[in-house]
Amino acid sequence: MTSDLSQSINPLRLAKARKQIKGSLQVGSFGRLEGVLLDKSGELQYSLSFDFDEARTCIVECTIDARLTFECQRCFKPIAIDIHKSSLLAIVKDKDDFDALAQEYEPLELDEEHISVEELVEDELLLAIPLSPLHSEDDCSGKQVLDKVNADAKPQPFAVLATLKKK
Ligand SMILES: [Zn+2]
Repeated sequence: MTSDLSQSINPLRLAKARKQIKGSLQVGSFGRLEGVLLDKSGELQYSLSFDFDEARTCIVECTIDARLTFECQRCFKPIAIDIHKSSLLAIVKDKDDFDALAQEYEPLELDEEHISVEELVEDELLLAIPLSPLHSEDDCSGKQVLDKVNADAKPQPFAVLATLKKK
């Protein structure tokens, strides 16, 4: 299965059949990443595996791999970050389900029978992206600029002395 954006799935049915679906999605198709990414080209890979656990909870194992380009929050130049998100989601229908959920699961609320693959992947991706993407200090031109400003701002003892002598 590949990138059909309107792809909607029935997790319970897929879990009964213990199915796995894999595919890729265009990074630019995620509306909620608008304004977050510097470069919206490229695609991400996802895989979703459906099953039930011993408590008959419907489980979705979700992995996402992507290389996304953000804007460094220090120098405002592009920074490419590899995202690998792997999560174990459990389908919950109401508060009782939610309360009974084992700790290792992330709740996935299911209002309708079907969910959209794209929305699910986007939700997970949003949890994985860095809040404040930054280059490492050595790679960041903002750091060098900052260092220079700091160095220039240091008082220079001889210059101070010179102004004192003039008085
Ligand atoms: Zn930077």
